[in-house]
Amino acid sequence: MPVKILTVVGARPQFIKAAAVSRAIRETDGLAEVMIHTGQHFDANMSDLFFDELAIPKPKHHLDINGGGHGDMTGRMLMAIEPILLAEKPDWVVVYGDTNSTLAGSLAAAKLHIPVAHVEAGLRSFNRRMPEELNRIVTDHLSTLHLCPTATAIANLASEGVVKGVHHVGDVMYDATVFALEKAEVSSTILADLQLQPKQYALATVHRAENTGDPERLREVVQFLLEQSRGRTVVLPLHPRTRGAAARLGVSLEGLRVIDPVGYLDMAKLLHHATEVFTDSGGLQKEAYFHRVRCVTLRDETEWTETVTNGWNRLWKGPPHVARNEITDYGRGRAAFEIAELLKDRAPSPAAG
Ligand code: UDP
Repeated sequence: MPVKILTVVGARPQFIKAAAVSRAIRETDGLAEVMIHTGQHFDANMSDLFFDELAIPKPKHHLDINGGGHGDMTGRMLMAIEPILLAEKPDWVVVYGDTNSTLAGSLAAAKLHIPVAHVEAGLRSFNRRMPEELNRIVTDHLSTLHLCPTATAIANLASEGVVKGVHHVGDVMYDATVFALEKAEVSSTILADLQLQPKQYALATVHRAENTGDPERLREVVQFLLEQSRGRTVVLPLHPRTRGAAARLGVSLEGLRVIDPVGYLDMAKLLHHATEVFTDSGGLQKEAYFHRVRCVTLRDETEWTETVTNGWNRLWKGPPHVARNEITDYGRGRAAFEIAELLKDRAPSPAAG
């Protein structure tokens, strides 16, 4: 019998990470995967497009749960995931990152004594006002297997007493970038479609609650981007949350090149040829480095501290970029395969451990 992996995803960055791991699972003997899509992100260009482009197998279970407050959404997910776990009886539940889908998947599994593997374990912003930080901390403490992208993540876990089942596998987003860039350079027509010239525009994304929840803060972010757009275009693929917030809070985005969210291949192409990146996204800060493009993070802290200490990133209100160095932490694009190998071992039930 193959080791049965049940993957829980729900949000855009999770589709990208799961695509890499799912591919490795399919190419590794002795593993079988079943997927739950919680429905947290549901717009076609935030969800289906990624399944198509990245060839992710269709999820067996689609919960269609989105909207509502954090407790409401997470609670409904918990209620829906539990019976699926009871019926599927997986050997592992694999969760990604730090969303409500991550928390619901890990909590439902741990309560049923099913071992949890957390991809992107150990990240900390040390800001407990971020919903993502709470989801990470709880998930890490419920997990049996901690699949860490960086040495800093391992140190963060150790400082919370988490030292068992901790592995430095590298960053699955690097695997995803390697996969996408090759394809994107051949197939993406986004630069021509938007009439952009390579290295004559900057790329921005904004979606965090801390930037979209308050009109003053959102205005400040937009003002910063407008200042950066002097002499060049700033392209902003607009997250639905930010589009809604700007309309509701009456914040004008005029002066920026606002486009709908794009697929991963178009994003890789846009990123690769940008002069600079401005973002509050976790994933994009690293991807900027993978494409060797300088980044400014539109937040007051970052989990990806090595991008700052090695000169590829800086905080928008922090000191200037320091001298650049290569970052070795993220691995060589084989993190997903390392994860698949680790999942081949059935873990003892957490109750017995
Ligand atoms: N992304 C994308 N299309 C877009 C905007 C972002 O494919 O229009 C990708 C981006 O390259 C990165 C991921 O989505 O890989 C980041 O997702 P998001 O910013 O939603 O979440 P976070 O990284 O903050 O968890």
